[in-house]
Amino acid sequence: MTETLHPKLQPQFDAVVARNPGESEFHQAVHELMVSLAPIAGKRPDYAQWSILKRMCEPERQLIFRVPWVTDTGEVQINRGYRVEFNSTLGPFKGGLRFHPTVNLSIIKFLGFEQVYKNALTGMPIGGGKGGSDFDPKGRSEQEVMRFCQSFMTELHRHIGEHTDVPAGDIGVGGRELGYLFGQFKRITNRYESGVLTGKGLTWGGSQVRTEATGYGTVFFAQEMLASRGESFDGRRVVVSGSGNVAIYAVEKVQELGGTVVAVSDSGGYVVDEAGIDLSLLKEVKERQRERLSAYADARGGAVRHVTDGAVWDVPCDVALPCATQNELQAEHARTLVAHGTGLVAEGANMPCTAEAVTILREAGVLYAPGKASNAGGVATSALEMQQNASRDSWSFEETQERLRQIMVDIHRQCLETAEEYGDPGNYVMGANLAGYIRVADAMVALGVV
Ligand code: NDP
Repeated sequence: MTETLHPKLQPQFDAVVARNPGESEFHQAVHELMVSLAPIAGKRPDYAQWSILKRMCEPERQLIFRVPWVTDTGEVQINRGYRVEFNSTLGPFKGGLRFHPTVNLSIIKFLGFEQVYKNALTGMPIGGGKGGSDFDPKGRSEQEVMRFCQSFMTELHRHIGEHTDVPAGDIGVGGRELGYLFGQFKRITNRYESGVLTGKGLTWGGSQVRTEATGYGTVFFAQEMLASRGESFDGRRVVVSGSGNVAIYAVEKVQELGGTVVAVSDSGGYVVDEAGIDLSLLKEVKERQRERLSAYADARGGAVRHVTDGAVWDVPCDVALPCATQNELQAEHARTLVAHGTGLVAEGANMPCTAEAVTILREAGVLYAPGKASNAGGVATSALEMQQNASRDSWSFEETQERLRQIMVDIHRQCLETAEEYGDPGNYVMGANLAGYIRVADAMVALGVV
């Protein structure tokens, strides 16, 4: 945590650390928000009077539960499930579920905390939350994944509902898992309540463009950033980390806009394909076969390099889109990007850049967008899915994509206007944090101490 806090905010941050020991990712997310609050620190007596910041740092509800299930060979497994319902001031708790062995309370709290301000930025009526489990779907059979999802939902169903809490996907939770989760919810409750989950399949209540939304939205946001400097994706060399849901559709949209994605990664390394990533092969390997990127390299023969040491950020590029996981782009990687002349970093993942990396990028004049703003297209389209479910309607791909694009343009504009208003033009971090924070804080003042 490189930037210092305003003296009025430091004691509040110290209190969060003392109250939530060992939760380093959560501390990091709170610190990043508090840095941006300096221009309003001490200037909003109503926020102080109602202890807004203190209440924002305490989730409304935190659920931790046992998830027992049985493997194909008859062994009983115990995982831990989480749902942190962070803030419902603007609407029902809304945020994804992550299934990954690294999941713990700190990670779910950082994600839930960020989600509150991200959701506020979209302008949609949604609060913030996040959940998941330390379950690792890798190497598990279809039946094992289904049994796990059913057991997870057997507990979670008590706490969710279209007016209460609406989960979606995240790392390790895609269309397959959401299907099993929705099926179990429907069975237990005897209700076809489409609005209880988003990211559903198109034949059972899903929305067009939801699968593509986070990746497309990140690229729409980056397109606006480039346009603010009179530039575009046309002819740009782009590196995307990850090769999951967000990364794949970021690659797709960059290529549609004339850029060339030369490298993507996964947890086993990265591939460099100078001709441009072959999108249909990437989808085949990662979406359908659920294979490693080494299979992509094997299929492309000698035309590509598969690298298992170093980082994907070693590949020179004009635009970098981190779309894998938190803290994957560190100080040394930021220095490499700066040395290679990268002009723009927009986060598709949540908090993929460390605080130190962000400082290095910003000091070097690299345009940098925090995920809270640039990856908000996923949750925004989830809110569009909820709208369609509520009106029992479904919109075309083109109409939904245009709504998503417009939302991203609007978030970009809000970030720049807010940064300008509070005296730091071009600071997307400050703009995103302050715009989201003020929207939630004003509503919390209006609703009283609840
Ligand atoms: P997926 O599970 O579909 O993909 C994650 C990708 O990141 C995979 O390629 C995975 O590799 C890779 N990865 C995960 N952990 C690591 C690691 N430690 N090192 C290197 N690579 C890693 O998840 P999503 O694409 O849905 O999510 C990616 C990011 O985007 C997350 O931060 C998520 O919170 C964020 N996000 C997602 C949204 C959504 O709508 N899905 C919305 C907003 C944000 P492998 O293939 O080997 O597992």
